Amino acid sequence: MAKKGQCGRCAGLCCRYFALPIETPETRADYEDIRWYLCHENVSVFVEDGDWYLSVKNVCRHLSQEDYRCGIYQRRPKICRKYKHADCDSVPGEYDYELHFTCDKDMDEYIRVKFDNNVTEKRAIRNIKRRRA
Ligand code: SF4
Ligand code: SF4
Repeated sequence: MAKKGQCGRCAGLCCRYFALPIETPETRADYEDIRWYLCHENVSVFVEDGDWYLSVKNVCRHLSQEDYRCGIYQRRPKICRKYKHADCDSVPGEYDYELHFTCDKDMDEYIRVKFDNNVTEKRAIRNIKRRRA
């Protein structure tokens, strides 16, 4: 948990990216689409509490690079107002992601394990059934 007053000693970590919920992938094509997102620099995808999110590292244009304060503090968006300091980005390991893909290679491996292994298993089961018949 972050301590009170920690923002004054932080470089505004929470203002350096944004994350959006995305639909939970089901088909191989859905996972391939996510692999395409991950081909792009500064993009990652994570799963938290079963929900999938796309995260883009891109600093907010209103974060001062001199003192790391918000340049539109009085008019900052609602989502910034709602952000909970208690579990913020300045605390290492505070997030407990079920899955975290940082590049397309991560997703490529995941797809191969998830789908190709299943295909192999299905084939093996089919062969076993044939042998028994
Ligand atoms: S809320 Fe956390 S991450 Fe954001 S500026 Fe404050 S200490 Fe840094
Ligand atoms: S508007 Fe202000 S508080 Fe919100 S992300 Fe940008 S710098 Fe941070």
